[in-house]
Amino acid sequence: MFDFANILFSGPCNARCPFCIGQQIDPALNQNNLHEFPPKNLAAFMALIQAHTIRQIVMSGTNTDPQLYSYETELIRLIRDQTAPGTQLSLHTNGRQALQKMAIFNQYDRVTLSWPSFNPETYRTMMGVPHPPDLQAILNASAIPIKISCVLTGHNLVEIPDFLASCYKLGIRRVVLRKVYGDSRSWERLIPSTIYNRLPKMMYRGNPVLDYQGMQVTLWDFAATQSRSINLFSTGVISAAYLLSEAKRDSTATFPARNSPTITRHRIGQPSPRPGSWRTPVPDDTPLPRRLPGHCV
Ligand code: SF4
Repeated sequence: MFDFANILFSGPCNARCPFCIGQQIDPALNQNNLHEFPPKNLAAFMALIQAHTIRQIVMSGTNTDPQLYSYETELIRLIRDQTAPGTQLSLHTNGRQALQKMAIFNQYDRVTLSWPSFNPETYRTMMGVPHPPDLQAILNASAIPIKISCVLTGHNLVEIPDFLASCYKLGIRRVVLRKVYGDSRSWERLIPSTIYNRLPKMMYRGNPVLDYQGMQVTLWDFAATQSRSINLFSTGVISAAYLLSEAKRDSTATFPARNSPTITRHRIGQPSPRPGSWRTPVPDDTPLPRRLPGHCV
């Protein structure tokens, strides 16, 4: 019924991305909980995870990085204790704390790391801070799969071919190229045809997954994405809105009950791809790495 569950943190961030989704979220949902254990309403949230048999849990943030949370280890332990075997725990991070907290980093099952550019100047422009973390060192120290998430703006569009080549050389095998929420331009206009015309291997939640020399490259458009999640905000609000910016401070009051006939697949915008957009239609039923909404990068 739900694809995943997001545990969201709020507080000061160690980056200052101009496009931070935290700016679009109801301010009443952004209360600093970086030093609060357990997060508010976690018990109710864990009960929902169990009741709905959710097997994907994501630690993320609305306006901060989840590795800034003071009780990361304790929370991981609690989640492991209270979830069924096989439940996957993911971290969505900007990676700026990864090397200092690598022992904790490796306690997750997988990580999505936000990385907009290999060019230090572009990185500074897009993340609002200098000195990118040492991605090679993170990859070397990591014992778990890392997926790279690259949000696309006018600053890094021109770098896409080099960006993908660099990811491939580093041994990365999963990349997500993400439109900024609200960017209605087509993929044909955004990315070079040499990338766009690669045959989609499959679809994931309405988004094509391209093959780049064996590396999966997902083209992620929130406006076309079909996905379902429950989200625990720092205030304790639990929302079932896929887009965090659509969550309301009273979302918990309307949260659907398990097996309720009122639960429908949460679908945003128009179906994608458009008929004929891709040369080979592929079924949208293949398990894939998931770009989960939550971490704003
Ligand atoms: S987008 Fe993420 S990393 Fe950037 S400022 Fe917002 S929370 Fe921090």
